[in-house]
Amino acid sequence: MRKTTLVEHPLVQHKLSYLRDKETPTVHFRKLVNELTLLLTYEATKDFPTEPVEIETPLERMQAQRISGKKVAVNPVLRAGLGMLEGVLSLISSARVGFIGLYRDEETLQPVEYYIKLPDDLEERDALVLDPMLATGNSSAAAIAAVKKAGARSVTLVCIVAAPEGIERVHGEHPDVHIVCAAIDRGLNEVGYIVPGLGDAGDRLYGTK
Ligand code: URA
Repeated sequence: MRKTTLVEHPLVQHKLSYLRDKETPTVHFRKLVNELTLLLTYEATKDFPTEPVEIETPLERMQAQRISGKKVAVNPVLRAGLGMLEGVLSLISSARVGFIGLYRDEETLQPVEYYIKLPDDLEERDALVLDPMLATGNSSAAAIAAVKKAGARSVTLVCIVAAPEGIERVHGEHPDVHIVCAAIDRGLNEVGYIVPGLGDAGDRLYGTK
């Protein structure tokens, strides 16, 4: 299926420009990631099916639409994906949350798993995987494999900045996964950072550098 949605909404692009700016301090960076994720979630959930329900307004009865039987699990990839969690939960408050602890070995660029805790009813849920930077795609592909292995009904990857290499890597391994992002950048530099990118999302979120 290989579906990628690039969200070009002016609000998304406006906020992303501040996120990319190296002068943007941690406190603003965190807020912007939260707001951007909320807007990306709006797009990621666009195809959720609805069903008619009978309700009564203060004036009369009517048929309204509600999301039908949709159960969601939100799965941030630690640590940077954690910065995106609140943005999703502010729209889907009943979602269950799973955590995927992966770090990138800076020499091999391969993901190393150190903590996985997923909801135990994932086979009844559609999973959103949160990873702000889709760079080589190694971590995202491993995170997606983990939620699929646990039985998720479907998987959508929500990221902020994607590199073409990362999209190719994820879709090569998981062609059924819908990728939603705010930007597709030029590529990766020699140490696996997205260019022009926004730097290390984890460090900028948590002020660790
Ligand atoms: N991880 C980041 O935080 N930034 C990049 O550019 C690539 C991976």
